[in-house]
Amino acid sequence: MSNFTKNIVWAVVTLIVISLLFSLFVGTGKQPENLSLSQLATDINAGQVSKIVVNGNDLAITLKDGTNAVSQKEAESGLTDSLKNFGVDPTQLQNVNVEIQSQSGWQFWADLLAPSILTLLIFGLFLWYMFRQARTGVNQAFSFGRSNLRLSTFKDKVMFKDVAGLREAKEELIEVVDFLKNPKKFLDLGARIPRGILLMGPPGTGKTLVARAIAGESNVPFFYISASEFVEMFVGVGASRTRDAFMTAKRAAPSILFVDEIDAVGRQRGAGLGGGNDEREQTLNQILVEMDGFDRDTRVIVLAATNRPDILDPALMRPGRFDRRVVLDLPDLSDREAILKIHAQGKILDKNIDLHRVAMRTPGFSGADLANLMNEAALITARRDKSSIGQAELFEAAEKVILGPERKSRVISQKEKEITAYHEGGHALVAASVKDADQVHKVSIISRGFVGGYTMKLPAEDQHLKTKHQFLADLAMMMGGYAAEKLIFGDVSTGASNDLREASELARRLVTKYGMSDLGPVTFGKTEEMLFLGREISTEKNYSERVASEIDDQVKKFVAHAYEIAEKILKTHKSALKKVAETLMQKETLEQEEFYGLLKPFKIRPIPA
Ligand code: ADP
Ligand code: MG
Ligand code: ZN
Repeated sequence: MSNFTKNIVWAVVTLIVISLLFSLFVGTGKQPENLSLSQLATDINAGQVSKIVVNGNDLAITLKDGTNAVSQKEAESGLTDSLKNFGVDPTQLQNVNVEIQSQSGWQFWADLLAPSILTLLIFGLFLWYMFRQARTGVNQAFSFGRSNLRLSTFKDKVMFKDVAGLREAKEELIEVVDFLKNPKKFLDLGARIPRGILLMGPPGTGKTLVARAIAGESNVPFFYISASEFVEMFVGVGASRTRDAFMTAKRAAPSILFVDEIDAVGRQRGAGLGGGNDEREQTLNQILVEMDGFDRDTRVIVLAATNRPDILDPALMRPGRFDRRVVLDLPDLSDREAILKIHAQGKILDKNIDLHRVAMRTPGFSGADLANLMNEAALITARRDKSSIGQAELFEAAEKVILGPERKSRVISQKEKEITAYHEGGHALVAASVKDADQVHKVSIISRGFVGGYTMKLPAEDQHLKTKHQFLADLAMMMGGYAAEKLIFGDVSTGASNDLREASELARRLVTKYGMSDLGPVTFGKTEEMLFLGREISTEKNYSERVASEIDDQVKKFVAHAYEIAEKILKTHKSALKKVAETLMQKETLEQEEFYGLLKPFKIRPIPA
């Protein structure tokens, strides 16, 4: 609607401008003076007239000084006669160049019609303009159902070398490109090449990126559309846009059609509240129809990406449609390092930068997070007026991406600072004092985002399996903050609430999910998990009340045991705790080396949790 109003305003403004111009044009055009015949006679006698053009009864007069004038002769007599009647000197008249022009029919009509034609023309122009505006502005009335297909027109070309890791995805896609170029090899073997490939993975893992890399690597036409564009502005265009997109791709075969964010239309049908979005359903149906409509040797591969495979309509996954699924996982340690390396290109880094250590500190980061980290590091470096990015800036950027920016401005009382220092010192010291615990990488009492302070502990390498002992060590470390507060101040603060919640949840998982408690190797509760994101959606209680209370007891036991361990460690090494806390209050952060350096004199021997 706003578009429409805008166009009206434009049209009106244009009209005003045109009429202004017109009146200016007409107004300033100098009207030649209209002389009476007697005045003309006087001028001729004075020798001021150089030329007279006679056109019917009209006289166009040119004076010697260059000015023009007009006049009319008497209709019944010739010019000379008329002038003579007004007493013109015949000798003077001979000096005047008199030209007789017969008026042509064309000119006559032109004179007659000129004003109305001009009006019509302006009116026509105005109409044409309105029409055009209505077409392009409001709804592109004549290209309404057209999809906004882009023919691999990504501004910056992406190649496989720009994509780190994601080996399976790359291999899969290379095979597809190979098929498009070389179908005979596959068809001769009787192989059926997948119609559709669905890339799925958490946000930022590089789904769009690999698809773009395919566009860069393959020499076949690559069409790109984001599914949300299917259902963009007006109801009813989704299906026709889909048809158009598939038709365009088919016409260009062999080709690849990439539908990004397909969950925008591919939601399970009929699952929406209040009937769902009909438009979406129609679009999805159309996609299904189109995919089925490919015959066996149509060389069009449909590529789609989503980070919500769990909500996709099962019909999409049927063989012959998106029957091949490629999962893009969060990058592991070496992939993270490789991604960092890619995004370090074009940035100025210190010579001795160790990206491996940055990768170690960033488990759970997606490719997009890592790209963001590199950029943050550059920004931090610029803010510090340094000429190259250093290790410190990289670490800082990592923390910023995880926890949000430092909140140095937050005023903390001395007492609060002391509590935080002992709390974090407690976490760190317990981590350093139990077997199987992760390494402490950093301790800080600077508040960031929502946390007052934090202890960063990380496994030495990416873990896919975790043992019971490691979980117990984790639990003890989580309780370290609470135990330290209680030991030093004889009181506990709300700062420990988050730790307690996390510890309780972990303990419950140990009992119900991993079968690591005294209840034995059984799991409790039926949990529906998302396909690969590992997030639990809902847990169904499939055990009796009696078992429920036993589970609660086990959970309590785990947490209590962890607290005992933490308390024992902190009591034995109270002087070490004091040292760490006091240093923290002074310096606010301790890096890995500083922290372990502080502990050296205390000769701590890790105990099992
Ligand atoms: P999504 O999976 O959400 O589509 P993108 O493909 O848009 O994620 O990735 C976002 C950005 O993250 C990319 O533009 C790229 O800069 C970075 N990125 C993600 N994965 C990788 C990777 N494997 N290698 C290099 N850069 C990556
Ligand atoms: Mg994407
Ligand atoms: Zn804590």
